[in-house]
Amino acid sequence: MEIWQSILRQSIQSADKLAEHLPIDTEEVARTIRTYPMRINAYYLSLIKEESDPIWRQAIPDSRELIDESGFEDPLMEERDSPVVNLTHRYPDRVLLLVSSECAMYCRFCTRKRKVGTNLRVTDETIRQGLEYIQGHREIRDVILSGGDPLLLSDDRLEEIIGRVRAIKHVEIIRIGSRVPCTLPQRITPALTRMLKKYHPLYVNVHFNHPRELTEEAKAALNRLADAGIPLGNQSVLLRGVNDRVDILRELFCKLLAVRVKPYYLYLADAVRGAGHFRTSLSCGTQIMREIQGAISGMAVPTFVVDTPGGGGKVPVGPNHVLSKGEEEFVLTNYRGQILKCPEP
Ligand SMILES: *Cc1c(COP(=O)(O)O)cnc(C)c1O
Ligand code: SF4
Repeated sequence: MEIWQSILRQSIQSADKLAEHLPIDTEEVARTIRTYPMRINAYYLSLIKEESDPIWRQAIPDSRELIDESGFEDPLMEERDSPVVNLTHRYPDRVLLLVSSECAMYCRFCTRKRKVGTNLRVTDETIRQGLEYIQGHREIRDVILSGGDPLLLSDDRLEEIIGRVRAIKHVEIIRIGSRVPCTLPQRITPALTRMLKKYHPLYVNVHFNHPRELTEEAKAALNRLADAGIPLGNQSVLLRGVNDRVDILRELFCKLLAVRVKPYYLYLADAVRGAGHFRTSLSCGTQIMREIQGAISGMAVPTFVVDTPGGGGKVPVGPNHVLSKGEEEFVLTNYRGQILKCPEP
């Protein structure tokens, strides 16, 4: 067994076990995880420094999850745009294919909170149907492998799937969405990256939410991926009490760029039931982005998006730098709040 497999196997999944490590209310955690399962491994647990810190909040069950009546179970309506089970075809030229039902950790704010760890079933048959659908739709040029976490599959299983996607002539790029470089970086082994690099153009989008997640282990994992020629992007979620501050996000984005990860999206937290306590207002996000855009390398600035409830897809939401538009000129503002007049042609 590889190191990552044994770390994963020893993950904490019960309140009693967790209480051996952290000062929790065992009863409360036990009750919460009957609805929303918990999984946390020794590596990610070791990043917690104190109660309710940004790492704790992402991983440790909170009784507010159960009393939350806001939001939706499937806010993005992924089921509706799903022509075959575990495949979402929402945009013209690309699809999301769920190939794994497991994650290295069950993030408390997860959009697929109701599915991950419980109701998500990936089988040979669902994958076969997904591939058949992609094969039959020549407009699909981009296939995003997601889950759960695709990088929790064994190298062989993952290679089998990637190889079959690659064999479809009209598929140009393959993307993998994974939180493993953050939550279980030991998984990114030299053997895995040797395998992945055979299937270029292949992109990996990772998911870091706080600079403290960028440990030496995580940086080494990202480095191995980048050295295999894999372009890396990061998708963060704006989370109340975790990273809803300019200084935290500025540091996160700059540190990601310094390890060859391009900040790609910052999401407003989805309206998912059981995660209401993580949500921030839209203007909180646009205000933070207004202070970041221009203050740090443009390369480090992600697009701030809302994945709209009801399945309207991702919509960029600013910050808006246009103050006014007239016939002869338009007026802009920058991160320092200066007023900048520009002539119209
Ligand atoms: C996010 C997402 C994509 C990919 O969107 P990009 O903007 O191209 O990164 C594709 N399909 C679905 C269903 C998605 O949610
Ligand atoms: S790794 Fe991603 S899919 Fe899995 S629980 Fe966390 S946010 Fe959800």
